[in-house]
Amino acid sequence: MVALIDAHTQLFGIFGHPVRHSLSPILHNAAFRALGLNAVYLAFDVTDLPRAVQGVRALGISGLSITIPHKEAVMPLLDQVDFQALQIGAVNTIVNQEGRLLGYNTDCIGAQRALEEAFTNDQAHLAKANGAGPSSVLSGKSAVILGAGGSAKAVAFGLKSAGMSVHVANRTVEKAKALGEALGATFSSLNEVCDITADVLVNTTPVGMAPDIYKMPIASECLKNFSVVMDIVYAPLVTALLKEAEAAGCRTVNGLRMLLHQAVCQFELWTGLQAPLNVMESALLGQIK
Ligand code: NAP
Repeated sequence: MVALIDAHTQLFGIFGHPVRHSLSPILHNAAFRALGLNAVYLAFDVTDLPRAVQGVRALGISGLSITIPHKEAVMPLLDQVDFQALQIGAVNTIVNQEGRLLGYNTDCIGAQRALEEAFTNDQAHLAKANGAGPSSVLSGKSAVILGAGGSAKAVAFGLKSAGMSVHVANRTVEKAKALGEALGATFSSLNEVCDITADVLVNTTPVGMAPDIYKMPIASECLKNFSVVMDIVYAPLVTALLKEAEAAGCRTVNGLRMLLHQAVCQFELWTGLQAPLNVMESALLGQIK
């Protein structure tokens, strides 16, 4: 990769704190290499966000991923924010369009595409499916989302805009209510999820994440109420929830699928090119192993 760097190399990166665990440099650099693009993607551990964004303008950085804790705070620092990112209240992608910084949220489309895979193996359909729209295989299906935090908002807006009916269940019911009302969705506490039957269950809480890998966000007896169970936690790759869901006969979707698809969408926003999905997937799996 070093051999490609010259005076024309475009710079992309991620702003976060902490950021050294990020898998995004592996994903995007693999994609740049595969398409022969003269571009490089670096991780920046950013604590002073306003000055870092000034740096983007001053240096002409071409595009950025934005991660915790900057997804909300970055919004007023940009020139324009996409409507869906405004609705979600978070930006995870910046495109530098001739000096104007445009903000997007690709987590929602990442969640949509990850779930679409569970309903179809037809790769041609997935390649064409550009997120929301009446052609989505998700249209008319129902989902229960566990959690009402930052990623829950992106997942909920993504699934809702793909035509799904959504129910939000959260430990703190007031937060489920706020998200449910913003979405036009029903809501409840986590304890009430066992009374609900739906096509899909999505866990957006960190429950089950390492080191607490045996924890479950809901009781395993409830999983028979769902056909597909998706966990956005990806460390471990197969969470306790996904193991129990498989045992209950559900189809499962692990957290890497959303991570991969949101990155594919970022790459396409930055370059205008179709992202090499298989290359990015191999890079991600190689790194996880
Ligand atoms: P967040 O904004 O802090 O929200 C966390 C949510 O989980 C809140 O609704 C919180 O409920 C709930 N929660 C936390 N601990 C809980 C517990 N012990 N029992 C029940 N509910 C609990 O976090 P986030 O940014 O949404 O991230 C959540 C997870 O998603 C993380 O593990 C992150 O790594 C993962 N993630 C994955 C992807 C991907 O692409 N795969 C993308 C983004 C995030 P309260 O409201 O009651 O506190």
